[in-house]
Amino acid sequence: MDNYNWERKKILIAEDEETNFLFIEAILEDTKAKILWAKSGIEVINQFKQNKDINLILMDIKMPEMDGLTAAKKIREIDPNVPIIAQTAYAMSEDKNKCLKAGCNDYLTKPINHRLLLSTIDKYLAPEELLGSGK
Ligand SMILES: [Mg+2]
Repeated sequence: MDNYNWERKKILIAEDEETNFLFIEAILEDTKAKILWAKSGIEVINQFKQNKDINLILMDIKMPEMDGLTAAKKIREIDPNVPIIAQTAYAMSEDKNKCLKAGCNDYLTKPINHRLLLSTIDKYLAPEELLGSGK
């Protein structure tokens, strides 16, 4: 049973195809994560600049205007730490290497697997800090 609680997390989903976005959104619904949607690499950059509290980016590679690899490189210039998980239709190892070289932390192959999506995101979402616990 998947049982993730990300109600204090904000996830930016970069995906140009609405059906794919809705599919991912439905998978994440039970986690209570706050979801933002960018439909191009340009929108990824703009939304990331406007939302400094984004905890993770799920990055489609094939998008109009600016592809996900270019967007990932530009995000890395702004923030070296925010986790970026690429989602790519290309299963070739060369493409996986391109994703990692562009600054992505990890990659998922389309069609997206429900459980693998959740477990991969969980791996990169930092646990809640116990500020002021004094222990
Ligand atoms: Mg696409």
